[in-house]
Amino acid sequence: MGCAYSCEMQLPKVSTPEEKMEALVERIGAVFSEKVIMSFYPFREHFKVAMTRKDGRSGAVPAAALAVLDNRISSLCKSLHVSSENDPLFALAMICEAARRSSFVCCENGYLIKRKVVFTPQFEAEFLGSNRQEEAYSKFKAVYIPSSEDLIVRNIEIDLEPRSYYMDTLARNLGVREGSEIMMSRTIPRAPNDARLYYAIPDIQIIPKSWETPVGVVLQGKNELVYNRRASDLLGYSVYGDAILASVGSTWKSEGKLVFADVSLSCYYRLLLGRTPEGNYKLKRDAILVSKLPNSFSSRAQWRGTLPRSLLIDFCHQHRLADPDFVLHSTNPSSDMLPIEDRKGSNGSYRCRAKIVHQDQVVEFESEHHYRNRCDAIQSAALRALFHLSKKVPTVPHHVQNVQLSPTSTSKCLSLDDRAVGCEPENGFVNGNVNSEGSSNPVDYLNKAIAAGSMVCMSYNVWLVGNGVNMKVEAHEEFEFQIGVGGIIGELESIISGMHIDAYEELLLPVDNIENILATNQETVHDLENPVIEQCSLKYCIKVLRIVEPSEDRMESALFSPPLSKQRNEFALGKIRELNAKSLVDFGCGSGSLLDVVVDQITHLECIAGVDISLKSLLRAAKSLYTKVVLQKNGDEDNYSSKLKKIVLYEGSLAQPDPRLCGFDIATCMEVVEHMDPEPLKRAGDIILGKYAPRTLILSTPNIEYNVLLQKVALDTKVSSGENRVVSSGACLNSSGHFEEPAERSSIANLSDDESNAQSIRLRNDDHRFEWTRSEFQEWANSLALRFGYTVEFSGVGGCAEDPGFATQIAIFTRDLPISASEENRPNSLKAEIDASQRFFPCYREVWKYKKEGFRK
Ligand code: SAH
Ligand code: MG
Repeated sequence: MGCAYSCEMQLPKVSTPEEKMEALVERIGAVFSEKVIMSFYPFREHFKVAMTRKDGRSGAVPAAALAVLDNRISSLCKSLHVSSENDPLFALAMICEAARRSSFVCCENGYLIKRKVVFTPQFEAEFLGSNRQEEAYSKFKAVYIPSSEDLIVRNIEIDLEPRSYYMDTLARNLGVREGSEIMMSRTIPRAPNDARLYYAIPDIQIIPKSWETPVGVVLQGKNELVYNRRASDLLGYSVYGDAILASVGSTWKSEGKLVFADVSLSCYYRLLLGRTPEGNYKLKRDAILVSKLPNSFSSRAQWRGTLPRSLLIDFCHQHRLADPDFVLHSTNPSSDMLPIEDRKGSNGSYRCRAKIVHQDQVVEFESEHHYRNRCDAIQSAALRALFHLSKKVPTVPHHVQNVQLSPTSTSKCLSLDDRAVGCEPENGFVNGNVNSEGSSNPVDYLNKAIAAGSMVCMSYNVWLVGNGVNMKVEAHEEFEFQIGVGGIIGELESIISGMHIDAYEELLLPVDNIENILATNQETVHDLENPVIEQCSLKYCIKVLRIVEPSEDRMESALFSPPLSKQRNEFALGKIRELNAKSLVDFGCGSGSLLDVVVDQITHLECIAGVDISLKSLLRAAKSLYTKVVLQKNGDEDNYSSKLKKIVLYEGSLAQPDPRLCGFDIATCMEVVEHMDPEPLKRAGDIILGKYAPRTLILSTPNIEYNVLLQKVALDTKVSSGENRVVSSGACLNSSGHFEEPAERSSIANLSDDESNAQSIRLRNDDHRFEWTRSEFQEWANSLALRFGYTVEFSGVGGCAEDPGFATQIAIFTRDLPISASEENRPNSLKAEIDASQRFFPCYREVWKYKKEGFRK
């Protein structure tokens, strides 16, 4: 609050409680000085109405107003006793004690503070003369929050008579005599226009003890105190008795007048909803009946609504916890120098831990997996923390209501354009499983399924229907969310997962949380009785507008932890180490995700080559390798990668041979073959094993039989809602790719049996020419191995070998016989031989090369 005076005031350096008390005495006196009152926003306006009230208490102000309107007073009270922040009674007791000690002010009838000396006539003329406003207002709306939960929260109208003091009026509405007997809370965060709670000061006696020891508050209640749960939830500390939520305040703009604004019931329910991280998230997205806090963070691009980090910081503020601390761990400090899309296919390098001090304990939350981007890692850790911290807040499970389709009202096709106005849904509703498109048998449903990780944009209306009610309570023209992370209520997600673009569906759900409905901005809902709302249903009318399918990469990292790409690279790295390979060539190296990993790790590798047809990708790979190997190694010759002598990146097609790629110990070809047409692929196979003849070739490709699982994930409501929300890794698969619950696993395995001809299942990436089943892959690899004298073994990553096999299938080709006795000499002899006989000329372009000083070859 901008208080010109308090900024200038030089407070003595206070240390002992007695000195702090003295400072409080001085401050309270100062607040009542003519000089301060004139310029003291926001107290000035309040003071003016207090002084002009007609009932003869001119200039007397309730202690509660002082406690919250003057920052200096509230911080002095807080420094005297920290509890004054969470229990305003402490502050009241201290202020009254200070007033008693003051020679300038006195404390009248309990909690009323007044100047001892009357104001000078000049002051009265100047202060009250300007802007007389007693006629300016008459009525405003407030929200009455009864302490008894049997009574509903309702709107009341506060009628301000001319020259009455609004605190007195509020007091009478609360059943007490005058303004000094009510408590005024601080403003409620995010409430509009200075909304606060007003409630009667409990009928208790406050006995201030020596200020050396904590203030003693002795409860000697004559009447029983009734805890007000709803009001306490709003404020974050205990409130007893009925309360009123009202908005009285002033701004610089209001020119010295108090402004009385209406507070709607929706406002109250929205504030209540905002007490939880989930509710906070919904309020920013303004989709209260549809959205949920997603359970997994993949990237900023796929997140809609308030980011987890802001939600967590809010949460900490609300619960008076210190701000969370985010600790980043980087396994690969250079990777953030590349734009995100440059890192396609590579695993990320950042993890983050969110640390929160909660009840004197440090609680830590680790990000879900490695992220390419620091911010994403932070968001992920924050999301983990939110889920953990908000567990106390029970989420009521939704249940799909089994509604019979009435024979008289056939599913009337409602278009979103006419906003379903013409619909008379009382007699029977259209169940979500029956739609205007009329195609909802399970098989179609499977084929239409939107893949997990897709971004869906829909338009929706939610109607409150039944019991004679037909009322639109929420609507969005365009609402975008990610499938498979629990970002919308489960029933809706399972319906939407089976829809295609332009499809329209309706879903009927029972009302399970009246407060949510009341929080929507639909004021007319408040005219309904709660029991009536309870008997209604919510009708969701949804139209899918757009679907953006996930890239292969996104899908893989959304569903696997660690991401599938990382698991592939780890697999290759394992082989490189196992074989003590000294040289590696990566065919179709792309942006260098594998090479990046390899140069970071301890291996025996001395020579590394990468080949790709895409110059753009190679340049990215070069940039990243350069940063790692050249820039970061300076002055650190002893480090792990010092064995590396040479790295070359070639631009060229695998369908063309280049003698420089002969004779490597190990070759990798990860996720490349499916990008090639049959003819070039056949040539590439012949060249790699027939001409280059590496000792070992590791070749990976998607297993199409696994796609059913990838694409079905989003359909499983259990996965996207309910008790499985806080699944540790990915959407629903554990680190080995198994579903957490055996029952689900088998049901999905059955699905894949039904679909074993796999034709109708989508490929993982638009650029894929094909994806193979296990037997197709094995047939291709076996025949290739046979032709060139290799033995082949099959393995994979993501999931397990049992049906439907690994997500990524991998073949390990091992050459049966060394070409010559000495592996060392072989490449050159072979090269010479092939050069001569087959006109095998270098045709690849060297894009980038690193050579260790003094290394020739
Ligand atoms: N191996 C990398 C990249 C896989 S994406 C990884 O696992 O992350 C497939 C790559 O194959 C792309 O970079 C593409 O440019 C490359 N590619 C496709 N056809 C090719 C061809 N005929 N010759 C060389 N590279 C090819
Ligand atoms: Mg691919």
